[in-house]
Amino acid sequence: MDKIVALCKRRGFIYPGSEIYGGLAGTWDYGPAGSLLKKNLKDLWWKQIVQMRDDMVGVDAAIMMNPRAWEASGHVEAFTDPLIECKVCHKRFRADKPEDIKEHETLGHKVEGKTVKIEWTEPKTFNLLVEAKLGVVEGDQQTIYLRGEITNGVQVNFKNVLDSTRVKIPFGIAQIGKAFRNEITPGNFTFRSREFEQMETQFYTHPEASEDWYENWKQNRMDFYLSLGVNKDKLRFKDHDPEKRAHYAKAAVDIEYEYPWGWDEVMGIHNRGDWDLRRHTEYSGQDLKYRDLETNEEYIPYDIETSAGVDRSILVLLVDSYTEADVRLFLKLHPSIAPYKVAVFPLLANKPELIDKAKGIYEDLKKEFMTAWDARGNIGKRYASQDEVGTPFCITVDFDTLNDGAVTVRDRDSATQERIQIDSLKDYLRNKIYG
Ligand code: ATP
Repeated sequence: MDKIVALCKRRGFIYPGSEIYGGLAGTWDYGPAGSLLKKNLKDLWWKQIVQMRDDMVGVDAAIMMNPRAWEASGHVEAFTDPLIECKVCHKRFRADKPEDIKEHETLGHKVEGKTVKIEWTEPKTFNLLVEAKLGVVEGDQQTIYLRGEITNGVQVNFKNVLDSTRVKIPFGIAQIGKAFRNEITPGNFTFRSREFEQMETQFYTHPEASEDWYENWKQNRMDFYLSLGVNKDKLRFKDHDPEKRAHYAKAAVDIEYEYPWGWDEVMGIHNRGDWDLRRHTEYSGQDLKYRDLETNEEYIPYDIETSAGVDRSILVLLVDSYTEADVRLFLKLHPSIAPYKVAVFPLLANKPELIDKAKGIYEDLKKEFMTAWDARGNIGKRYASQDEVGTPFCITVDFDTLNDGAVTVRDRDSATQERIQIDSLKDYLRNKIYG
């Protein structure tokens, strides 16, 4: 894991949040390569979910909501983790994470040179919602919550979407956005952060169809990670034990990945039943029922949710694509999400005719592809630095190019090279990247 964290810092993927001030626990900033990777992942997700499907639409709801919405959704009452404190060092741990507790007990504490047995406080519940104050007059401010999950912004707009579009059940609403949680123990790099991003679908079905749709979305989401080239042996489904299920869930399964510290969650698929719409009906006094215009049946739909962490998905992609082969180190990222699709180099940095030719290709390619330019050092070093950000193709302009109009294209994964005519470069790249 340390190697990945170091690479992320070195190559501009992810930095600790507000680092020059000593950081802020549980926050991370995405750098030039990381923000591209994140955007590519979100764009691909949005394209597949919203653009390519006829039964999905998207929304982008506010982070700040009327606090009643969080009472309705049960988060004020039940969005809690059990917390215990080490009586020796006062560090806090989640009581439902026995591995962390065991690790702390194994490490032990020394007081005045003697090892002391660790004792714990009784578990206390701790609400994860982050509070904020809204309003300009002190004393007249309203306490609100930064959203703890992005679901609620979709649920409160269920009727708006029904009334303003032509959707009919079964249909879904997609959203991508930030969520905030007062995590007790942020850690494992970005895995557990206090500010993070989610990409979610809420898919509304007739209650009787909900189980089939649950199975359908389960497979659909697993296929998404497989299509990005994630190692199939490192992905698995993990059903939630009924007693551990969230307060709203009728059925719930996680997709887990085998991270360097072991199997852990990437995303969840939940059958939320009619929990959200029923509660919002109750708390808002608005009628959120659906009427089937063909059968005249009125009912509160069931909601099949898929909830993926953007940051956890990025972490999976980084960990999974990290490849050390012989003397090379490269990120085997799927070309469709790689930060840069292609890099262009002049063979020698002191030959104006090579630089002009290469610059022309670079200027042309960047209209369509995120393209990197590098004229520093030798070719070997340039390849190595592109490998570390996962650029799938590197193009070198050499003296032959000036005569035959062809360039050398080097493939990141195999390190093999082929000559391609400049005229057919775009088709070549389109094919390789989007297939
Ligand atoms: P965990 O059990 O790991 O705390 P969770 O079950 O509370 O996660 P959900 O509420 O189901 O998570 O949230 C859906 C998704 O949002 C998770 O699968 C994860 O990818 C992401 N997520 C949740 N909490 C965090 C966090 N603190 N940091 C980063 N991503 C998170």
